[in-house]
Amino acid sequence: MPVPHSTYLTSFVVGNYVKVSDSYKNIPLGFFMYPGTESLAQRKYGKTKEMMRVFEELTGVDFPYNKYDQTIVAKFNFGGMENITATTMADTEILMNSDNLVEDLVAHELAHSWFGNLVTCRNWAELWLNEGFATYMEAAFREKAYGRADYLRKVREDAAEFMTSDAISDNKHGLYNQLARPDDSIFDTTAYQKGGAVIHILRETVGTENFWKAINIYLNRHKFQNVETANLQKAMEETSGKNLDWFFKQWIYGGGYPKLNVKQVYNPSGRQLNLTVAQTQSADKLTPEAFILPMEIEITTANGTKIEKIEIKKREETFTLKVNDAPTKIVFDKDEKIPLKAVKMQPLTIAK
Ligand SMILES: [Zn+2]
Repeated sequence: MPVPHSTYLTSFVVGNYVKVSDSYKNIPLGFFMYPGTESLAQRKYGKTKEMMRVFEELTGVDFPYNKYDQTIVAKFNFGGMENITATTMADTEILMNSDNLVEDLVAHELAHSWFGNLVTCRNWAELWLNEGFATYMEAAFREKAYGRADYLRKVREDAAEFMTSDAISDNKHGLYNQLARPDDSIFDTTAYQKGGAVIHILRETVGTENFWKAINIYLNRHKFQNVETANLQKAMEETSGKNLDWFFKQWIYGGGYPKLNVKQVYNPSGRQLNLTVAQTQSADKLTPEAFILPMEIEITTANGTKIEKIEIKKREETFTLKVNDAPTKIVFDKDEKIPLKAVKMQPLTIAK
C-alpha cells in the first residue's frame, strides 16, 4: 500500500473465483464471484460506482485508494468487512439476501473507505466513528438515489432497531463506549444503528450545509490518521458556530433515549394549545433525567397549517402555543429531526 492505513484492514483471500470487472473514473472495480455465480455480480454490486460518486460528492473527498474489490467468502463471522481496497463479503449476505439489503451492505462497506479506513477510530471506545458513519452513509446514499422519504425510512428503522434491542440489553453504553473490550461485543446496535440515527440528529442540529462542510474538514484534517469524537465535535462547531457540548454529552457520551408522554389540551377561550411534555425514561449514570430536544410541531386547524418551534429541556414542562381555532391535526417532531425517541401522544382534550 502506498498510503498509511491501520493493520486490522489487511487481508488475504484465497479461493476459486471469477473476477467481474467494472470501473469508476480511473479506479478499477473488481467483483470476485464463485464460478457459476458471476452473472449475479452486476445485479449485486452494479451500484458501487454510483455510490462512489455520491460519497465523493457528499464528503468532498475523492475515493482515497487506487482500486476497490469486493470478494465473497464462506462462513464469515460478519456481513462484510471493509478490508482496505478489498472488502470481504459473507456469501450468504450477497447471494441470499434481498437486493435492498445487499445494497445497504455494499454502501456500508464502501463508506468505510472514508469513515474507518481514511480516518480510523483511535480505540474501540470510539468505534461508533467507524460504524455509525458507515451505517449513516447507507441512508445518505438512499437519500440521493431514492429521495428524502426513503432516507427517513432507513434512519427511522435504524432508530427503532436500537430502541428494541436497548429494552433487553444488559450491555448498555454510550456511543462513546465506556465498556469497550477488544472482542465482538462492541459490534452492537448502539455503535451501528444508534450511531447512524444520532448522526442524522447531528445533521439536523447543525444544518445540512454545515454538516457536510464539517465532514470535509474532519476527513481532510485527519486523513491517514486516527480520530476521536472530539475531532468530529470540533469540526461541527467550526462550521456551525455553535457550542455542541450539550449535544455530544447527551447523545455520544451519554446513553439511552428520551421517552415522552405528551398531553394536548385546547383552550377555546384563550385560543391556546397547551402541550405538556413529560420525559419518562429512567435516569441512570448514562441516561439524563431530561434530554434537550429542539423540534418542530405542525398544527392544522380549519384555518390552515402552521409550524411552531419548541425546545424541550425539562423533565416536565408545558408549551403554550397560539392557535386561531381548534386543532384538527398535530404532528409532533414534524421533520423527524429526532427519530430516536418514544412518544405517547394523549388524545386532544378541550379545556372547559
Ligand atoms: Zn461496518
